[in-house]
Amino acid sequence: MRRPMVAGNWKMHGTRASVAELLEGLSDQSLPDSVEVAVFPPLLFIDRVVEGLQNGKIAVGAQNCAVQAEQGALTGETASSQLVDAGCSLVLVGHSERRQVIGEGEQQLIEKFRAAQAAGLTPVLCIGETLEEREAGQTLNIVGSQLGSVIAALGIEAFTHAVIAYEPVWAIGTGLTATPQQAQDVHAAIRAQLTAADAKVAQAVRLLYGGSVKAANAAELFGMPDIDGGLIGGASLNADDFGAICRAAGN
Ligand code: PEP
Repeated sequence: MRRPMVAGNWKMHGTRASVAELLEGLSDQSLPDSVEVAVFPPLLFIDRVVEGLQNGKIAVGAQNCAVQAEQGALTGETASSQLVDAGCSLVLVGHSERRQVIGEGEQQLIEKFRAAQAAGLTPVLCIGETLEEREAGQTLNIVGSQLGSVIAALGIEAFTHAVIAYEPVWAIGTGLTATPQQAQDVHAAIRAQLTAADAKVAQAVRLLYGGSVKAANAAELFGMPDIDGGLIGGASLNADDFGAICRAAGN
């Protein structure tokens, strides 16, 4: 039985005032114990979010980490060991905004995934196709190859301590959501790919869906057999909406 997870990606949003308000709103939420809840604030606010979520019900993750686990001469980057020291337990790897806007490539993502695990962080590997790729009937090839390159480099065992988020790029921040069946089809293919490498690992790994999840559509998505929760962008900036999504994952 996989424990559902709901993770809030705050992206590059927040000021000291708005983060304080969001933390207050989150502490008012009743969150189901059956769901693992996490937030991924901008690096700048990780300290205060860790401090503000002292009750331990919400884990804190980073949106990015360096390609090396240990501190060193790498201006502007953050080592995963530093993230652990700051109180993080998770890190996003390969979010489509980093792949597409920042230009991170497969090799870099593999190194980040490896560095995260070396420091004791759980990587949340984000994979997903663009609209063009979906329309060309390439969804499963793209997602399969994004996942396959990490399996090939690090081995299937790397997924015993990892989470996978399927995020169709065309659904991120657009208001367009994959239908529950569209998302389930891709999640089932991801699980089948993992199963071909190791059935036990495949059964245990959480597969999150991300792409315009809201309180109104969360329950239906999370009701699908291979969807184990969500990675939430925009709606995670509102504590009431995020709380409602977490509760939907607990039902
Ligand atoms: C995301 O940024 O990972 C995401 C899914 O964003 P949104 O929920 O806003 O589509």
